[in-house]
Amino acid sequence: VTKTDSAPEIQADLIIEGAAEVVTCAGASQGDVGAIPDGAIACTGGTIVFVGTGADCGRRVALKPGGRRLDARGGVILPGFVDPHTHVPFAGWRDGEFEKRLAGATYLEIAAAGGGILSTVRATRAAGLETLTTLVLERLDAMLLCGTTTIEAKSGYGLSLDAELTILRALARASSHPVEIVPTLLGAHVVGPEFRDGRRAEYVRLVAEEMIPRAAAEGLARFCDVFVDEGAFTLDEARTILEAAKRHGLGLRVHAEQLRHTGAAALAASLGAASVDHLEQATHEDVAALAASGTVAILLPGAAYFLRETSRPPARAFIEAGVPVALATDFNPGSSPCHAMPPILNLACVLFGMTPDEAIVGATRQAARSLGLEGRLGTLETGKQADLAVWDLPGRKHLAYRLGLLPCRAVVKRGRVVAENGRLSAA
Ligand SMILES: [Zn+2]
Repeated sequence: VTKTDSAPEIQADLIIEGAAEVVTCAGASQGDVGAIPDGAIACTGGTIVFVGTGADCGRRVALKPGGRRLDARGGVILPGFVDPHTHVPFAGWRDGEFEKRLAGATYLEIAAAGGGILSTVRATRAAGLETLTTLVLERLDAMLLCGTTTIEAKSGYGLSLDAELTILRALARASSHPVEIVPTLLGAHVVGPEFRDGRRAEYVRLVAEEMIPRAAAEGLARFCDVFVDEGAFTLDEARTILEAAKRHGLGLRVHAEQLRHTGAAALAASLGAASVDHLEQATHEDVAALAASGTVAILLPGAAYFLRETSRPPARAFIEAGVPVALATDFNPGSSPCHAMPPILNLACVLFGMTPDEAIVGATRQAARSLGLEGRLGTLETGKQADLAVWDLPGRKHLAYRLGLLPCRAVVKRGRVVAENGRLSAA
């Protein structure tokens, strides 16, 4: 080693070193995690300015006065998880329904008996803006402590113009939280309770002609989603709603092919949807349609597990066809009461046959891509936003291997340490 090298050329206000590996998630294919052994990372002003080996970091990066140096203590550094499908703004849990389902009642039977989504609608409408905002903030705290730094969050438990807008406003008010929220209007979750008796068409008009224009005009939603399935919306209704959303400048996401095959995935692909989600019943034609459109397939193994689905999404076929596969919690009180990404990675491997590395990329790079945020989030590369988590694990595959609570030692959002040793940092 020559000692003639010049002074460090990079100034950083946060340096994290001593990692067993830095998992950049940069790469082209689903399984390409871009891991750097003995890695280090540095950021300035919320942006990553160095990613590489610890030795390189020592030579090239200097800490600014007042900056912070964090020891990863042989752990793993990963991009903050991006959870691209959640139903975070809801009131009321459904633990009683869980017991009924264990005793043999089906999802559709529970919905037909007035339980299911509509019971959450009643509780959410009753909660109001203040309570909903508080609930969202509490859940974001819990997600942050599990290494999630960005989420997509859907409305959908309001099902009236006012109630849907209130839910989206709760998300807007929660935007002060370190966990970044991408809001989605899901007014078309199921038909609103006041429109059930022969007034479906009126409800579809309400979504297409009132909810979508208002949510778009007030900047309350970036995407529009439709649940296309038995007990929810038909393909024709979905087309009306998605075309309206497109006219109003919203991106498209679709709950598709979960309980029954409806053709919604192909419709979404033909409309240039950003994502198609669930896909337990997807066919090889659907795989080809998504591959051609560049739409991201978001798989939700938490829901498949919780509902004891026997059909599996064709994860391997998607990956082989070059369809980006993202993973999400689908966090909701009825079919996936899980806010943490690591157990979702485990379920994606065990139930859907993904590899740990494919699952990690699904929860970071591909998830960011499904939200149109891949230029800023989802990988650890210089110039990207400094969103990352430090895990007290000896290697990245433990994230998918160890089912349950894992030790996330530090979480960094926009270059700031926002959680450490299982606690949120003071704002
Ligand atoms: Zn969902």
